Amino acid sequence: MSDTLFASLDLIEPGDVVVYHGSIPAHHGLHIAHPCACAYCASADYLGSTDVRYRLTDPFAEDPDATALCCVRRRSITRSAANA
Ligand SMILES: [Zn+2]
Repeated sequence: MSDTLFASLDLIEPGDVVVYHGSIPAHHGLHIAHPCACAYCASADYLGSTDVRYRLTDPFAEDPDATALCCVRRRSITRSAANA
């Protein structure tokens, strides 16, 4: 297995660059991934859910917090090769 393939299977870590390709086309593209810390996700984490959700910020936005996407499913994002 190549290092590149291994990286693509790796877990997404806080601060990783990811590509969003989920249900909101206007937000498709590169984002920075963070763990979602809303009340719903925090309680799901506490209960041991394996359905990890992410909060995505747009590195090119003037106010990344204002345009952040919350509760994004793992399957809606792909770890970007920009992390390599
Ligand atoms: Zn959340």
